[in-house]
Amino acid sequence: MLSLDFKSGWNYAPATEDTKHIQLKEQYDLFIDGRFEKPEKGKYFSTINPSNEEHLAKVALADTADVNKAVKAARAAYTNVWSKMPAAERGKYLFRIARLMQERARELAVIETMDGGKPIRESRDIDIPLAANHFFYYAGWADKLQYAFPNRKPQPIGVAGQIIPWNFPLLMAAWKIAPALATGNTVVLKPAETTPLTALKLAEIIQESELPHGVVNIITGAGATGAALVNHPDINKIAFTGSTDVGKLIQKSIAGTPKKLTLELGGKAANIIFEDAPIDQAVEGIINGIFFNQGHVCCAGSRLFIQEGVADIVIRKLKDRMETLIVGNPLDKNTDIGAINSKNQLETINKYLKIGKDEGAELFQSSCDIPKKGFFCRPTLFLNASQSHRIVQEEIFGPVLAVQTFRTVEEVIEKANNTPYGLSAGVWTDKGSKIFNLTTKMRAGVVWANTFNKFDPASPFGGYKESGFGREGGLHGLSAYLNME
Ligand code: ADP
Repeated sequence: MLSLDFKSGWNYAPATEDTKHIQLKEQYDLFIDGRFEKPEKGKYFSTINPSNEEHLAKVALADTADVNKAVKAARAAYTNVWSKMPAAERGKYLFRIARLMQERARELAVIETMDGGKPIRESRDIDIPLAANHFFYYAGWADKLQYAFPNRKPQPIGVAGQIIPWNFPLLMAAWKIAPALATGNTVVLKPAETTPLTALKLAEIIQESELPHGVVNIITGAGATGAALVNHPDINKIAFTGSTDVGKLIQKSIAGTPKKLTLELGGKAANIIFEDAPIDQAVEGIINGIFFNQGHVCCAGSRLFIQEGVADIVIRKLKDRMETLIVGNPLDKNTDIGAINSKNQLETINKYLKIGKDEGAELFQSSCDIPKKGFFCRPTLFLNASQSHRIVQEEIFGPVLAVQTFRTVEEVIEKANNTPYGLSAGVWTDKGSKIFNLTTKMRAGVVWANTFNKFDPASPFGGYKESGFGREGGLHGLSAYLNME
């Protein structure tokens, strides 16, 4: 059989993105009431580049007093300005923010990659354009809410507290801010502590857009800052994306209050390959689903189910393709798999690699070199995994794929649904009827057919079971920020 030595055959010259055009300040303060303000207690933390562990900037640590100030500014802006402004005017601000994001797209992409570790190809081609598209999309809805919800009286909720994770920093900020503003709410947003920089850049863009002061406030800090925001009595709605554990904590702490809540939590998506699937495309979809973006995607296709008849060929092609993946400097345009977001996350992934081996699954890793400095992980397969394995049941959030086989449609539906999560799934087959059968039976918020990890501002996204509730994106994303009669 012909076997290509991809490793020695496919060498690329480095193609590193320039960083000279970006502007990073040494220190970032809190964005409250349209201004950058020092935190009350004067505390800061460092945000680093996970691909080389170099310090990038000092970022303010907000405590309860700062959260109070931000919520107060958001409330005043809601009552005095934003809720009174004609909807078409609100839309104009969103369009302006979207255009400014496009103008600064290259700078935003480079900063996203430096602060979070994702390959520049991803931040340049996916994260930043999609983030701008969310503002464009929701800008269009601002003055059409009565058409979105005919015969209802859609009203804004008030002040929204929004907490986001580190895997899609700017995109998540856009997912949260754009629909909230389009529907007439004001916000206090807290980015993740390891990736605050693009949200702070967005704050600069918001200043430039002359959005009325206090409509968007961006405060930085870790879990305690998030908890202070969640527990603030003058918040009307919490929108959270992050881990299932923290989601449960938030749910508990706001129980009994009138605060509204949407949660987008973890996932353990099944990617299902049938014998009649286009195998080469499916292999590419599997790679895209779990390895690109370092598996740092809550909807990552981290469980692979292959129908027995094609298991050998799919696994062989998968291993071959894994050998071609380039792990390394995220700023290099050739890089497929960048840096793991933090030392903590790398430790979690390594812990699961050990658990998988101890449980008896067979480990395969590509043989590529990885940089000595920074946080990196080779793309990894676990073969012969079984339903009861922790690597099959628990979210790893890294480039680690657990592989199982199946014989019948009924069997794979049962196995795929046998998880506490239900965020997304993928199905690869030539038969439309099989796709429809599966999509109706999968307990997952999004099911991709013959593709994976595709996003669009117009389509709703969200989970079942421990993956959370509420939908973001599309028309559904509007209703999460509205009271309706
Ligand atoms: P991950 O494991 O993906 O880092 P987390 O759920 O810990 O996910 O973090 C997601 C976001 O939630 C981050 O912005 C983080 O600072 C914030 N966060 C962490 N703990 C809490 C908490 N107890 N209350 C509110 N927000 C929190």
